[in-house]
Amino acid sequence: MVNFFDTTLRDGEQSPGVSLTPEQKLLIAKELDLLGVDVIEAGSPATSEGEREGIKIVAKEGLNAEICVFARSLKKDVDLALGCDVDSVHLVVPSSDVHIEKKLKKDRKTVLKTAVDTVEYAKDHGLIVELSGEDASRADFNFLKKLYSKTIEAGADRLCFCDTVGVLLPERTEEIFGSLSKLGVPVSVHCHNDFGLATANSIAAIKAGALQVHVTVNGIGERAGNTSLEEVVMVLEVLYNSKSMNTRIVKENLFHISKLVSRLTKMEVAPNKSIVGDNAFTHESGIHVHGINSDSSAYEPMPPEIVGRERRFVFGKHTGGASVELALKELGLKADKKQLNKIVDTVKGIGDKGKRVTDADLQTIAESVLEIESNPRIKLSDLTVVSGKMIMPTASIKLDIDGNMVIEAGTGVGPVDAAINALRKATQGVTEIQLEGYHVDAIRGGTDALVEVSVELSRGDKVISAKGANVDIIIASIEALIQGINRLY
Ligand code: MN
Repeated sequence: MVNFFDTTLRDGEQSPGVSLTPEQKLLIAKELDLLGVDVIEAGSPATSEGEREGIKIVAKEGLNAEICVFARSLKKDVDLALGCDVDSVHLVVPSSDVHIEKKLKKDRKTVLKTAVDTVEYAKDHGLIVELSGEDASRADFNFLKKLYSKTIEAGADRLCFCDTVGVLLPERTEEIFGSLSKLGVPVSVHCHNDFGLATANSIAAIKAGALQVHVTVNGIGERAGNTSLEEVVMVLEVLYNSKSMNTRIVKENLFHISKLVSRLTKMEVAPNKSIVGDNAFTHESGIHVHGINSDSSAYEPMPPEIVGRERRFVFGKHTGGASVELALKELGLKADKKQLNKIVDTVKGIGDKGKRVTDADLQTIAESVLEIESNPRIKLSDLTVVSGKMIMPTASIKLDIDGNMVIEAGTGVGPVDAAINALRKATQGVTEIQLEGYHVDAIRGGTDALVEVSVELSRGDKVISAKGANVDIIIASIEALIQGINRLY
């Protein structure tokens, strides 16, 4: 049984360019709690007043998880942690000579003494202490063990071995944890993904006796990131699949929390990222889709539902008749053999030009082949946007919804945002739709070139994608949204 120490809100937030508001931190912390992680590292109190605010509201929420904060080996950091009313401190002590001598300009003896004093101080004030050896993977192992045993004597409840720059190998990790797991207190593993080995090293540590693993949602974190929560959970649950490797994590929530973290941190997940990437359960190739329709295990290591996802088919030059037929069935359309071939040929033709065919494109193609007059319920009648340096971007929109004219206005951080907000207001009450993704592709050329906007919309569990293309980026955005809304509505 391994414990999960989630540091999305601390090490994850240390990703370049990421900054979460206190409300956003709380939102993520609540979801982590529902997911079932054991410890939430909510932040680093020494960072700023805003950071402390965020930690305090997370600590006050009364979550099941232990609420922890990062602290350096300094009494003032422990005091700041106490001021946030948290359960525990993740006390990080530099352990390699490069950190001790070059970064801190100190020596091993001083570091050891300060660490012992700080642990005693934190324990005297009622905190749970997890003591980390920072850059432990490059430290002198004998000094590291001395640091650990002295701080255990001083009262440290748990230890952590940090591979701060991501240089561990699985074999070495196994040796290290085989030795550390004999120290008498639970040991954690904290890995970074600089060589893409964070998950493999964390698993090696767990197998060798680590009782807790430090992770972040989507593997976000400094540089190449931290160990990814969803990867460790699924490796243990699906590949090891034994009682001792049971994680107690609510796996069906993994995709949901991945989306939430990616949206709030504005860190997009790579399409080919395992478990949570866009393509992880998406199929295009005709042969694969045919195989999946007969038995999904043919080209999938696990069913997507297990992590709260759905299987998706995209269309392009590899598309075969089987996947188009399945998609048409979902759209409630029926094509005969000849019509189906024509639809497939059109899709392949677009794919050959290097384009991806979205669900909305497929519907349009199918409807024109099947000669169905599609009559959208929402039509754009007019759109006016004003923006400038001295005025708040404002848009007014006129829609024809089922024959009724609806006029609304909206403001935003920029003209596109303003237009989308106006559209949201105008369609409010008609339909509840969530914008999941927004992507702009400028088709190369001058400033008068065509711009293609792709959006992903959801309503309940249904997710669809749609596209708009126009020389005007605002019109292209609104067209993509209206096309998508019409399909969901
Ligand atoms: Mn780290």
